[in-house]
Amino acid sequence: MLDADFFRRWLTNTADAVDRTAALLTELDSPIGDADHGSNLQRGFTAVVVTLEKEVPETPGAVLMLAGRQLISTVGGASGPLYGTLLRRTGKALGDAPEVDEATFAVALRAGVDAVAALGGAAPGDKTMLDALVPGVDALDTSFGAARDAAREGALATTPLLARKGRASYLGERSIGHQDPGATSSALLFEALAEAAGAPRASEAGHG
Ligand code: ADP
Ligand code: MG
Repeated sequence: MLDADFFRRWLTNTADAVDRTAALLTELDSPIGDADHGSNLQRGFTAVVVTLEKEVPETPGAVLMLAGRQLISTVGGASGPLYGTLLRRTGKALGDAPEVDEATFAVALRAGVDAVAALGGAAPGDKTMLDALVPGVDALDTSFGAARDAAREGALATTPLLARKGRASYLGERSIGHQDPGATSSALLFEALAEAAGAPRASEAGHG
């Protein structure tokens, strides 16, 4: 079962992963954006961790809704409301249960991803965070490790795509050949989730 501590770990791990990867996220956001994705998410997830330590919400749903609210209020870029909506909607779907099983979480996260698609009007293939979020949540029915791997592959597969949403879409054909920063950070979310669940690393899979 997944409790509030599990979800706190997920978000703390995400904040750490964002810190480690901020420079790359901003670099990816340079040719097809405005070079702020790393700093946007660093600001947002730092605020999330601070707030979770201060308010100590007691249920999985409350942890995610509080985190989502923080992202929306601290991140100016498009990714703030989108990730904020992802977490808030997922948290809302979990209700006030003190613990949830993996299948329930997978259904809730699907609702969160659907809400991101509704808010941003994007679909898989548009070269956005959905290109990692959708394969990630699809594979969550298998395992946390499978979700991490699928999200990562989805992020890498954005490189040849033409951007149809967000800032990168202003570039038209010139958006081709660059990996999407938001899909890359979405893969980090799934990496942090697998880490919170103690899933074996991809390189360890099959070694007992
Ligand atoms: P901004 O584009 O406002 O500077 P960020 O740089 O923080 O915001 O985030 C950019 C990322 O947000 C993109 O790489 C893309 O993955 C994601 N994104 C932008 N617009 C949308 C949208 N309409 N739907 C889904 N994701 C989007
Ligand atoms: Mg940007």
